[in-house]
Amino acid sequence: MKYILNTKTGTLHIENMCSKSNPYEKKEFKSEDEARAYGRLNIKNCKTCFKNRDKKLSKISL
Ligand SMILES: [Zn+2]
Repeated sequence: MKYILNTKTGTLHIENMCSKSNPYEKKEFKSEDEARAYGRLNIKNCKTCFKNRDKKLSKISL
């Protein structure tokens, strides 16, 4: 799973989790922690991406 930071808006997306997860101005990270370390407090989670991720993870654990 790749984390993609839209460097223009400061929104953290997850690869293929929403329609905006491949912005033109972006930086890719291998983990959420890495992205946070890079962006500090300026990062906000994309609600769609994180909701979809949680849905996916809960399916896997069932
Ligand atoms: Zn997103």
